[in-house]
Amino acid sequence: MHEMSIALAVIGQVEEAAERAGGVTAVRSVRLQVGELAGVVPDALSFCFELACAGTVLEGAELVTDTVPGRARCAPCAHEWSVGMPPLLSCPRCDGGGTDLLSGRELQIVGVQWEDGSTPASTPEPIPEER
Ligand SMILES: [Zn+2]
Repeated sequence: MHEMSIALAVIGQVEEAAERAGGVTAVRSVRLQVGELAGVVPDALSFCFELACAGTVLEGAELVTDTVPGRARCAPCAHEWSVGMPPLLSCPRCDGGGTDLLSGRELQIVGVQWEDGSTPASTPEPIPEER
C-alpha cells in the first residue's frame, strides 16, 4: 500500500513549507490533486494521512483530494478520449499506436491553508513518484 508513503511525502512537504513560512503552529487543510491513473485510493490516502499527521504540525488538518480525470490523445489521428477505469490506452477510433497521456497522472499539493487562513507564498513541488 503506497498511500502511506505518499501521505508521508505530503506531510514532509507541508512541514517544510511551514518551516519556511515561520511561526506556523497548525495546518487547517491540505488540497491534493490526484490523477485517476496515479494509482492512489483517496480513502486509503485520507486514512494514512490522518495516522501519519499525529504529532506533527499537521495534526487535525483536513485532506481535500481533487480527482483529475485521465485523458489521452492519439498521435496518428488526434482523437481525444477519457481513459476511464480500467484505463483504455489504445485509440478507440483508429486503434493506432502512439498514445499521449494528457492528464491523469497528477499527484501534487495544490493548496495549503495554515490555521490562521493564510497560505504559503510558494507553490509546493509535485510529490516524487516512488522508485
Ligand atoms: Zn487514433
